[in-house]
Amino acid sequence: MKYPEIRNYIGGAFATTDLPGIDVFDPSAGVVISRVPMSGVRELDRAVAEAKKAFPGWSALPIKERVQVFYRYKALLEKNIAELAALISEENGKIDSEARAEVLKAAELSEFACSLPQISTGEVLEVSRGVECRIERFPLGVVAAITPFNFPNMVPNWSIPNAIALGNCFILKPSELVPLSAGRIAELLTEAGLPPGVFQVVHGGKDIVEAICDHPDISAVSFVGSTNTAKVVYRRATNNLKRCLALGGAKNHLIVMPDADKELAAGNIIASMSGCAGQRCMAASVMVAVSATDHVIARMVEIAKAMVPGKDIGPVISAEAKARITSYINEAESQGAKVLVDGRGTKVSGRENGYFLGPTIIDHVKPEMKIAQEEVFGPVLVIVRAPDVDTAIAIENASPYGNAASVYTESGGVARKVMERASAGMVGVNVGVPVPREPFSFGGWNESRFGVGDITGKGSIEFWTQSKKMTTKWNREAGTNWMS
Ligand code: NAD
Repeated sequence: MKYPEIRNYIGGAFATTDLPGIDVFDPSAGVVISRVPMSGVRELDRAVAEAKKAFPGWSALPIKERVQVFYRYKALLEKNIAELAALISEENGKIDSEARAEVLKAAELSEFACSLPQISTGEVLEVSRGVECRIERFPLGVVAAITPFNFPNMVPNWSIPNAIALGNCFILKPSELVPLSAGRIAELLTEAGLPPGVFQVVHGGKDIVEAICDHPDISAVSFVGSTNTAKVVYRRATNNLKRCLALGGAKNHLIVMPDADKELAAGNIIASMSGCAGQRCMAASVMVAVSATDHVIARMVEIAKAMVPGKDIGPVISAEAKARITSYINEAESQGAKVLVDGRGTKVSGRENGYFLGPTIIDHVKPEMKIAQEEVFGPVLVIVRAPDVDTAIAIENASPYGNAASVYTESGGVARKVMERASAGMVGVNVGVPVPREPFSFGGWNESRFGVGDITGKGSIEFWTQSKKMTTKWNREAGTNWMS
């Protein structure tokens, strides 16, 4: 094994473990590179106890002092980008440029946390002569985040800097498919000056997730993963009276109008559907081609066919994922859809056991087909034809998900109509992956998000804190009205 057995990070140190573990694979080679322990209640109890011990000291520091850690953490992410990106590529399979982008986004998230002293200030008003009302924000205590396989570094960092800078002590449960980056995140946070117990990592699967949802001393849980698991976690955590924000899966629609800029639309759409091998919750999944758009599709086919698997597009996460995605394509084809670009059977020389699939474009898909409705989570774009923009919007609106939607057009009126009417939390115009940059918050609608608020940016401040309303009267001479 290339890496020693992975360990939990508890109380500022890697913990020895006698736990059963499972293999960790390099998806581009199909070989085992490490083992990850399957923690249970006992390990969680230890982590929570350390977090509770650290909380009084950490939360008592002024926020201006707490964020100093994140200035240093940001610099460390940037300094170590090559090594962090290599680790991401190894455990997740994504190509180097995608892995580097993930680390840069993590650095931006840390940069945002550094702005929290300026934007999470309370409010104060003299409500009556000599009487002052104020609101101040307080941390919740011990909080946890449960994360998916597709962004081993960035998604944990959606929650880590903000939750910790706002005064909480934090437990991360990373995906058991990509557990390597979490250990480096722990080391870098410690190097940046975070005291022991403020950040911990507990590895595992279903058992540890359930234990987090049940633990009486964990106040809030952020979750990112598939919709089915998001529902389980949201129900279980809130049933135990915790705050929960659970982000789920997606089926993102890109509406292409006949007046779209051909090069921009074609290039963007292929980048969106194939980036990270289609394993992004913001990836283009359904192209709704409105009326005369064959020229855009022809250009997309050229671009997709020119992509080199292994160089321009990495593998999907596992052999099971590859089989699942392939069966979606097979079924659509057997139902009469036309496969314009076929990524099935892709092999990369020297990495024959990797889980590669080339970009796949399927035309003449009917909105009622399974491949047009369910999340495929691979480099597959289906094209559904629509006669006009209203029909296209209706197709988008019928999806139970609601992460992202985009429109390609040169018409401001059409763009505005789609932005207003798309049933999605993040919409774009001539943008293939409409992920908001900080400080604009990240979060979908419908079955792509359960709970209130967004997971990053300003929207996350409310989630990671509770407000205290204070009323004071010091000038006893001043009172003149009913409140005094
Ligand atoms: P997943 O739901 O399988 O796993 C996510 C986390 O939940 C992991 O830590 C896993 O250990 C845990 N888990 C899995 N099954 C569980 C169960 N039955 N009970 C309790 N815990 C369980 O998701 P994934 O395959 O790792 O990630 C891909 C999914 O994540 C896709 O659906 C993708 O759209 C979604 N995603 C969404 C967003 C978003 O912002 N909405 C962002 C990234 C990924």
